Amino acid sequence: MKFEEFRLTEPVVRAVLAEGYTRPTPIQAKAIPHVMQGRDVLGCAQTGTGKTAAFALPILHRLSHGRPRTPHGRPIRALILAPTRELAAQIGDSFHAYGRHTPLRSAVIFGGVSQHPQTRALREGVDILVATPGRLLDLMEQGFVDLRAVESLVLDEADRMLDMGFIRDIRKIVAQVPARRQTLLFSATMPADIRALADTILHEPVFVQAAAVSSTAETIQQAVYFVEKRQKPAMLAHLLRTSAIKRALVFTRTKHGADVVARHLSRAGIRAEAIHGNKSQNARVRAITQFKSDRPPVLVATDIAARGLDIDEISHVINYDLPNVPETYVHRIGRTGRAGASGRAMSFCDSSERPFLRDIERLIARTIHVIRPDGDLALPPAPRPEAAENPPCQRQDSTSPRQPGVGYRLRGRPRSRRLAVR
Ligand code: AMP
Repeated sequence: MKFEEFRLTEPVVRAVLAEGYTRPTPIQAKAIPHVMQGRDVLGCAQTGTGKTAAFALPILHRLSHGRPRTPHGRPIRALILAPTRELAAQIGDSFHAYGRHTPLRSAVIFGGVSQHPQTRALREGVDILVATPGRLLDLMEQGFVDLRAVESLVLDEADRMLDMGFIRDIRKIVAQVPARRQTLLFSATMPADIRALADTILHEPVFVQAAAVSSTAETIQQAVYFVEKRQKPAMLAHLLRTSAIKRALVFTRTKHGADVVARHLSRAGIRAEAIHGNKSQNARVRAITQFKSDRPPVLVATDIAARGLDIDEISHVINYDLPNVPETYVHRIGRTGRAGASGRAMSFCDSSERPFLRDIERLIARTIHVIRPDGDLALPPAPRPEAAENPPCQRQDSTSPRQPGVGYRLRGRPRSRRLAVR
């Protein structure tokens, strides 16, 4: 299938082709026709499947054809809610790129930074607003945002928004959007609370889903090091020194742990920064920006701090501590091995963490290659091809079979994350 077949407005098609996209991804092929028709959509798709364009392109198309701007300014006609500033910024970038040949204007608002540039943009008028729920509600309460003209509402990564405790904010925001609207809800997983939310805010939705772009097992070499807790610092320094590391993301379970590890590495002469919830927003942004340019090449993070972190070319993910929630392991290691590049995921497992390893192996349905510290420190061979797949999403009431992962290649910053449903 070709993009031209959707009959999207010409300026949008031109922008898409300029991005170098040759054909729609499966989620785009399934969702775009329905969104263009104005249907509500419940989409089960992870980041990395091309889901942003799946909603952005038809929204741009519809807004280009819809009501022109009024003499009273430019009302917000599309609202996109996202859990994190990073994801909101990415979505904003996508709207900007795909809408560059249209007269439509978009803005992104999120917390943790001054609100003034955001309120200025809102005053000047935007057609499309991308926002995190907290800051949006804040600006709504201050009277800067009027949602009465919204025609399309998108909830992206809805499961993460719920995990992050945004449900009340979301309900308050949705209450301000006209009932006669199009609503699109995308989520990587479909637990009961998402289905309950979907039932209340979507109207006769079409259900579409796409499997992960490729499973982590295909592109990521995984190894686990059986070590004792006290050996972890030295082992980490050793691995960072001896592996061909471009960028390494090291995960710890606690904020304190992240600081301790980063300090230890710095003392060992390895440039490293830590990011976690106790650091200021500025320190976090600085650390991430520097990490993107390889200086330092090592970032130590807690899971919460790493949420939404979108950096390609992370060559190594190191689990300094194994997560006690097995899905977290899949999230963590999905940050490497993107775009078909080979990534490495190394995990330290001390005796107290063995049960976590068992849970992880059960979830990913494979045994992770074990390396003992006094033995061979070389990396394991590539994973065996018979590694089982986990469906990225399931819906109890869905009768549609899961789409097979076809190893679809995305341009740009493809991500391969395999999530599983408990
Ligand atoms: P997303 O899942 O929306 O975050 O998209 C993941 C990546 O895929 C982004 O870098 C997009 O630029 C890229 N992408 C989206 N649609 C396509 C397409 N049809 N062909 C190639 N790359 C795409």
